[in-house]
Amino acid sequence: MIFEGLADRLQETFKKLRGHGKLTEADVNEAMREVRMALLEADVNFKVVKEFVAKVKERAIGQDVLETLTPAQVVIKIVNEELTALMGGTQSRIMIASKPPTVIMLVGLQGAGKTTSAGKLGLAMKKQGKRPLLVAADIYRPAAIKQLQVLGEQLNIPVFAMPEGTDVVTITEKAMEQANSHINDIVIIDTAGRLHINEELMQELKSIKQHVKPHEILLVVDAMTGQDAVNVAESFNADLGLDGVILTKLDGDARGGAALSVKAVTGCPIKFVGMGEKLEALEPFYPDRMASRILGMGDMLSLIEKAQSTFDADETKKMEKKFRKDEFTLDDFLAQMQQVRKLGSLDQILGMIPGMGNIKKKLGDVDLDLNGKEIKHIEAIIYSMTPKERRDVNIINGSRRKRIAVGSGTKVQEVNKLIKQFSEAKKMMKKMQGMTKGKGKQGLGG
Ligand code: GDP
Repeated sequence: MIFEGLADRLQETFKKLRGHGKLTEADVNEAMREVRMALLEADVNFKVVKEFVAKVKERAIGQDVLETLTPAQVVIKIVNEELTALMGGTQSRIMIASKPPTVIMLVGLQGAGKTTSAGKLGLAMKKQGKRPLLVAADIYRPAAIKQLQVLGEQLNIPVFAMPEGTDVVTITEKAMEQANSHINDIVIIDTAGRLHINEELMQELKSIKQHVKPHEILLVVDAMTGQDAVNVAESFNADLGLDGVILTKLDGDARGGAALSVKAVTGCPIKFVGMGEKLEALEPFYPDRMASRILGMGDMLSLIEKAQSTFDADETKKMEKKFRKDEFTLDDFLAQMQQVRKLGSLDQILGMIPGMGNIKKKLGDVDLDLNGKEIKHIEAIIYSMTPKERRDVNIINGSRRKRIAVGSGTKVQEVNKLIKQFSEAKKMMKKMQGMTKGKGKQGLGG
């Protein structure tokens, strides 16, 4: 989980403070020493750490915290506010041009996740009712062009590409012509990357910038590279000028140093974070919510928004109707599970619920990818049933169960378990329908 080490250390530190009742200046100093160590271990830029700790300390001691009845709470509040400020304070959005199309240029080193992010951003825009056009401007790697085309096909988003060897200025020029004639209101340009920053790359990016005058230049950087990501951001910003950062692979970054330092070091806000390889795994970056997550206060707002954007309202209504009429089948059961899974891994979901971070730890080595593995089995089992069986589980007798187990490569017990789970879910829904009958509309999502 992101910020796992930092979250643990900070929460431990504050737990100690809470145990103190009244605080002395020495207690605060000791706590700040621990905060400092925790941030350094999370690979936060040392200058940023120094300033951060000084600020918190000044406020903590200056505000007569020591005199209040709940000094630890006040210290945590200050840390929360300062962490939020460190990451930019409020959410930084993409600037949508008053006269479309809005042009977004993605830049970054090879492997940072540029092409994937272009697809993710396209999808996010499409969900908002926009008509994006993806532009393949990585002229050196035909594979990169192909990759973007495959993504476009998957997402049903048009991709503009030209034959190998065409110069980038021509590509972007023609792409803009296409966007204007096809009424695309968002143009996302996937530029070439390099293994390292070099003059040639910068010149090329500058010429695109000069030519298309993008509304947003976003740098895509890999969070797992820690302070290197911050250095890359500094260079790109100095040479090209950036409007923001997309920080990718935050799902694999246990430390979080880049997320905490980028804004403070470069002045460029993080606008989005990549939370996985799936195309839905792009989230707007909210400094305040991220700070709450670090301090173990959870992030219910993000979870609710995620659920809302994942669950299709029409689908939900259809399911609700099916429940009411008792027409809910195993196919529907599977479709629902697949939707829940789109929310993310259990690990990610728990991290967003206040206090759940600790429960997770108690689970220890228990396989937290339950929904990942289990759903594969469930899929296999349901796909091994005949359509008739899926509509009516009552006909699935012993010999059918055996056949389904063999067909899906699972055990009869697993088939039994699934059928039982399905029947119980159905029973429970019926009960809930009964309880709320006459109280107006009800949604499946609660
Ligand atoms: P590019 O060279 O910058 O265009 O990088 P790609 O888009 O090809 O991505 C490189 C690799 O990083 C691919 O395997 C992606 O699936 C992976 N990747 C991109 N973003 C994320 C993310 O947010 N989380 C994870 N776990 N992997 C990512």
